[in-house]
Formats: sequence, C-alpha cells, structure tokens
Amino acid sequence: MNYYDLSVLADEIESCMRCGNCQATCPYYQETGSESSVARGRIALAKYVLQGKLKYTPVLAERFECLTCYACNAACPCGVPIDRIFLAARAAMVREGGAPFLKKLMATALKNQGLLDLGFKTAARAKGLFFKPHSSGGLTPRFPLGLDLRRVFPPLSPQTFRDGMKEAMTVPGAKGNVAFFTGCLANYVYPSTGRAVVEVLNKCGVSVLIPGEQHCCGAPLAINGIMETAEQMARSHVDLFSGLEVDAVVVACGTCGESFKKKYVNLLNGTPGYAKKARELAAKTYDIAEFVRNIVPFDRQLLKEVVMKVTYHEPCHLGRGLGVTREPLEIIGAVPGLDFVPLQKPDWCCGNAGTFNLTHYDVSYNILKHKLADIAGTGAEAVITGCSACRMQLEEGIAREGLGKKVLHTAELLAMSLK
Ligand code: SF4
Ligand code: SF4
Repeated sequence: MNYYDLSVLADEIESCMRCGNCQATCPYYQETGSESSVARGRIALAKYVLQGKLKYTPVLAERFECLTCYACNAACPCGVPIDRIFLAARAAMVREGGAPFLKKLMATALKNQGLLDLGFKTAARAKGLFFKPHSSGGLTPRFPLGLDLRRVFPPLSPQTFRDGMKEAMTVPGAKGNVAFFTGCLANYVYPSTGRAVVEVLNKCGVSVLIPGEQHCCGAPLAINGIMETAEQMARSHVDLFSGLEVDAVVVACGTCGESFKKKYVNLLNGTPGYAKKARELAAKTYDIAEFVRNIVPFDRQLLKEVVMKVTYHEPCHLGRGLGVTREPLEIIGAVPGLDFVPLQKPDWCCGNAGTFNLTHYDVSYNILKHKLADIAGTGAEAVITGCSACRMQLEEGIAREGLGKKVLHTAELLAMSLK
C-alpha cells in the first residue's frame, strides 16, 4: 500500500464532517480569509481529485499548498489525518502535472549532496556579488534573483559544520554513543547549533558520530508531493543509519526528526527489506531536547548561570509533529539565572514552512508578524527555539523590524550553561 496515495484515503476523506473546527486554528486562513485555505475546503478538493472530477491545473495544485503546521490536525474532533490527505493530494498533483520549476530545482539539489555542497560553498564565497550587508548583520539581495528584495538572510557560513568537525567525537568511558543527523540548515547556515549539540552530548558523557555520507532528510520533497525522490532518500538514510553501531540517532530539528520517526516508516511501509529497518530506526531516533532530558539526562549540578530574559517558540513539527513540548521548557527551566516569559501563543506557526516562504513570501511574512508582536510583548532579549528554519524566519523578521533580539537553538542555550 502506498501510504501517500489518495486511492487508499477514501474513508479518511469521508470522515471529515465539515464542522469547521479547523478554521479558527489555521494561520493561512487567518491571513487569506479564503475557505479553500481551510483544511475542510482542501479535503473537499481532494475528494473531487480522488473521484476524477477535478484534474491537475497549476491553480488546483496551488490550493493544496499550505504551512503543513498540523494546527488543523490538532483541532479536528474526528481525527481526520489531514496532513496525510494533503501530502497525498500534492503527490497526485505532481504525478499528473509535474512539480513546478522551482521545486524541481530544489529536488535536484537536495537529492544530490555533492551538488548541494557545491551550491552552498559557491554561494558563501560569491555572496557579495548577489547580496549586500543588512544593518542587522544579515544579507539582503542586490537584485530580485527570484527573491523579494526586502528579504534578510543569515550570512552563510564559509565552512560547513560537517567539514569543520571530526567524524567521531568520543568521550572516555562513554555512557552511550549516538549518530548525529545534522540536517541541512545546521550544516550550512547555523554550524553553532551543530557544535552545541555535540558539546552537550559529550558533556552528558555520550560519544558522537557524524556520518559523512548523510544528506538532506527529504522532508521538503515529501511535503511537496515529490514522493519518488523522497522515497529514494529515505532508503539511502535507512541503509546508512541502520548500518551504524550506535544506540540512538539524534536530530536537532523537528522536521528532520519527523522524517526519521514518521515519514521513512510511511514511505517504506510496503518496501521489502526496508519496512522493518525503517521502524527500528524510527524507534531509536530522538530530538536533542528529548534525548538529554529523558534518555541520558544532563546533570543539573553542572549548570552555570545564564543571566538573560528569554521566551520560547515551539516549532510545529517538533511540538505537534513529534510531541516534544515539555522537554525544551524543562531545559529552559533548569538553567539558573534565566528570566523566562512565555509567549501568548508559543505554538502558533511562525510562517516559515520551508519552501512555502519562498513561494508565498507575503503570506509567510504576515503570519510571522503575529509571532513578532507576541515576542515583542514579552520583552525578552532572546527567543529560544528548536528548529533552524523557524530561527531563520524569526531572525529575518527581527532584522526587518529592527527588534534587536537574538534567536538561539535550545541546544545552544544548554551548551552556554553546561560547565
Ligand atoms: S475539524 Fe476535522 S472534521 Fe471538522 S471540518 Fe476540519 S477536518 Fe473536517
Ligand atoms: S496545516 Fe496549518 S496552514 Fe495548512 S490547513 Fe492546516 S492549519 Fe491551515
């Protein structure tokens, strides 16, 4: 059975009773006011696609695009697997009409690690040609280049995280050993997050292996319905990580974590030789916050003071996606000296949503503005979060609005505090 195929989802589609509970929680609907943005509207369209009453058009394919934030899943009293229906509908659109050019380009780059590496390194070296410095320290485009000229990006790291690290960081008398799946953004954009994850794990007495053959987790492809390539990438990672002699796999991003814990299992559930391995890999994959709270806990006695007023933004795929909601707050609560002020809506999507912020920049930024107002209301100096894509989005808004706040990954906060 192909898990992301509309033909196996007829009953799930019928289970939507059109109550509209998903409307109030949908950040996309809040900005557009369009019923077709709401889950029940998209589910109705998926039903017509399944029945053959609607065929691919670029406009129809666009109707299935959204933040994939799961706020509708969480609000649905019928337990409709909305995210699965959306991904299946996107996959149907790609099968019928092909992926749009920008997404094809993304898929080609993400499935080819050498090409992605070359692209990022070239961009880091030649950034002055295409970008100019922004007063925040980030970079803003010189020419449209398919990007909005108001955009502010973090400066690309001249050296990738993985290039700057040894493949194995062992500690004497280790309590365990893990493989670290770094994810693209920690590798290319936020190496400080990668370094913090390794430092925290080592200080918890855990040896860390960073397999050099790892690549993008494939989530941007699966989320955009490019399932065949996503499945190839899933098989490659299941082979790589299942073959390692490690106790666990640690990730530092909810979206990557969902790939290992859910999507690989779903994509490979009917693939001989892979289904069982994917389930076993899923069972030993943990987000860093979960790992150092529940599996090999950090020693509270080793925490030193960090004097800072902070708040916490919960990434959709970490919180609603993986259920890691308590652990990041417990880490923040354990660090002495912090003044923690919660957001009014910590789990409201920041609007990044991967490629969505490239293809729907204005909607994405308008969604972000609600988050920025919430952050500003706390008076915090720094926002803690557990996802590098959310971090990029928050940093961009903070830069554009001149809010002068820092954004840190939860692992970076813990690394600052652990002696
Ligand atoms: S909340 Fe669930 S059942 Fe109600 S309209 Fe939305 S998807 Fe359908
Ligand atoms: S996933 Fe998020 S943006 Fe998409 S329909 Fe559901 S609530 Fe709206």
